[in-house]
Amino acid sequence: MRARWLSTVFSLTNSAAATSRLRLPDATSVATSRSRGLRAFAGGCVAVVAVAPSATNAEYCAAVSPVTPNIHYVQEFRYPRRNGFGSYLNMFVSEPDLHLGHQVTRIDPKKKILEFANGKQDIYAGLISSLPLPDLIPLIEGVPSDVVDAVNLLACSSCVLVNIGVDRDDVSDAHVSYFYDRDICFSRLNFPHNMSRNNVPPGKSSIQAEVYYSRKYKPLDGDPADYVDLVLTDIRKTGLLRPDDRILYSDYSDVPYANVIFDLDRGKALATVHGYLDNTGIAYCGRYGRWGYIWTDEAFVSGEEAAQQVLDKNLVTRQ
Ligand SMILES: Cc1cc2nc3c(=O)[nH]c(=O)nc-3n(C[C@H](O)[C@H](O)[C@H](O)COP(=O)(O)OP(=O)(O)OC[C@H]3O[C@@H](n4cnc5c(N)ncnc54)[C@H](O)[C@@H]3O)c2cc1C
Repeated sequence: MRARWLSTVFSLTNSAAATSRLRLPDATSVATSRSRGLRAFAGGCVAVVAVAPSATNAEYCAAVSPVTPNIHYVQEFRYPRRNGFGSYLNMFVSEPDLHLGHQVTRIDPKKKILEFANGKQDIYAGLISSLPLPDLIPLIEGVPSDVVDAVNLLACSSCVLVNIGVDRDDVSDAHVSYFYDRDICFSRLNFPHNMSRNNVPPGKSSIQAEVYYSRKYKPLDGDPADYVDLVLTDIRKTGLLRPDDRILYSDYSDVPYANVIFDLDRGKALATVHGYLDNTGIAYCGRYGRWGYIWTDEAFVSGEEAAQQVLDKNLVTRQ
């Protein structure tokens, strides 16, 4: 039987509030749920221990131990004390030759011309793109049809992000909580007030819910705007929000590119698209230029690497 890793809820918190939202199986069903994975909890600390069907008794013993380790893939992280995550980029905003608010509408790789939605044009010496490949390829003049077909095979998840402000400071003491329940519309909640207390006014909490869908595999049910109310309903279901909690703020955004899906089409399609860009002299970087599982810091480094490639090529041309 194919190993199926199953987890239900993973929380980085030890709070009793987190335990109260779980519907955990009793000890007997845990012990007999070999083919469905294993969940363990101890005291106020909740964690999911995913165990493959082939797990040994020793692994089960470890899973039900009273000490539940933090098994999250992020054990530590850095976050700015003030002005949120985006403030990491502030040092680059003062760069002298940065032109923001230019949407590329056409790229002519032969004449090396860029056209923008604001009517401006520019000629480039070297071009590095961090645009998502499915957005980049249709902009390129004379792109072959097999490259267009290939880029259309690339799959990713999209995400409706719902942001909520709550008139209480102790909604959760987790940074991030995961939800895999089918009757909960989001799969992850972030609590920005716990990243830095300066992210919220004194005495308040903030929640960001991630609702995932995929144009290729799991289209969104309804309209993104519907998810503000649906998310609020489901957070109340988990017990994190109380019926009398005052919601001070809510909004949403629809993020078309979230996580790249590593399906069977990806390898061949990506080789076709990247091969074409290499031949055309357009360097690519970032999560959606590389079309991989790339974190923010890796996306940044991939931009530096692409810049180096372009510089190296120009140096070669000049010699
Ligand atoms: C919900 C969610 C949570 C995440 N959490 C984390 C986390 O905690 N830590 C972490 O490290 N990473 C996280 N990531 C991943 C992180 O967001 C990405 O790795 C990172 O943003 C990739 O940066 P990028 O510059 O490659 O792509 P993007 O930030 O997507 O930049 C691509 C840019 O291209 C622009 N663009 C598109 N078309 C055009 C056009 N025609 N003309 C001009 N510009 C255009 C877009 O507007 C966009 O700004 C998360 C991602 C999601 C979706």
